[in-house]
Amino acid sequence: MLDFNKIINNIHNNLKNNVVKGVVASYIPELSKQDVNQFGIFMQHVDGRTFKAGDAQTPFSIQSISKVLTLSKAIAFEDNNLWKRVDVEPSGNPFNHLSLLELENGIPRNPLINAGAIVIADILCTKLENPKEDFLKYVRDIANDQSINYNFKVAESERKTGFNNYAAANLLKSFDNLNNDVDVVMDFYFHQCAIEMTCAQVAKAFYVFANSGRCFNNIQHITSSQVKRINAIMLTCGFYDESGEFAFEVGLPGKSGVGGGIVALLPNHLIISTWSPGLNPKGNSLIGMQALEQFTTQTNLSIF
Ligand code: GLN
Repeated sequence: MLDFNKIINNIHNNLKNNVVKGVVASYIPELSKQDVNQFGIFMQHVDGRTFKAGDAQTPFSIQSISKVLTLSKAIAFEDNNLWKRVDVEPSGNPFNHLSLLELENGIPRNPLINAGAIVIADILCTKLENPKEDFLKYVRDIANDQSINYNFKVAESERKTGFNNYAAANLLKSFDNLNNDVDVVMDFYFHQCAIEMTCAQVAKAFYVFANSGRCFNNIQHITSSQVKRINAIMLTCGFYDESGEFAFEVGLPGKSGVGGGIVALLPNHLIISTWSPGLNPKGNSLIGMQALEQFTTQTNLSIF
């Protein structure tokens, strides 16, 4: 039997003193205040066992990890139009690139790049009565933790400097792929990215994707067929132009965020999340990627 406690603590010890830690995101000024030395790992087994090392209980900005959660909320409405408005192909481009969006007539490549997530945010702004409150409630419910909240300073910091994201939203609007006002959708988008969670809370929220759509409390939030689609998109698009690299090195569906968080999962087995704010040039946590590569290599647990 695998000794997860030992494996996770060894990986943490191996990597915590790495000299090369990557660079903390500075394009969202509030995120640049993060201490590059923080590093946590949390593993949630579907049988209920948990294992942790380092700063696994420190809240961080989940950023693009939120895109999987908004996608799952939008998919649950079973709106056939969704897949007409956003595609399911890897972009091979950085998360915020706009050139393909213009070339492809305002249909984003997938829901995990910024433009695609903005379309999903638009869908939620239409479907939810109180979008920000209702979405936060959903995240709290699937994570079984009512203390999860937005960090309003981070949302405001991103709004003030979000010229590229506003450009994406305006481009979508010009192609008739945004139904609500740009400002309304961007307010929702900046808030979803500014949710703060710990590695432990992220792993618990992603339990639904490892457990055929059922959360911790055994409530069915999405169908197993919807989970299949979400996990497929995480595998092919979760790390932008490094998705191939993540599949190659780690071999699990997963999602990163520029706050330095990563979450990955093995369906019906486990969810593992890491947080280390230093990013590599592609915008993914440098130490987090290495930790997950070591985890699947040492345990031989991957979808392959
Ligand atoms: N909020 C960030 C942005 O829109 C999310 C990007 C990310 O985490 N990769 O730029």
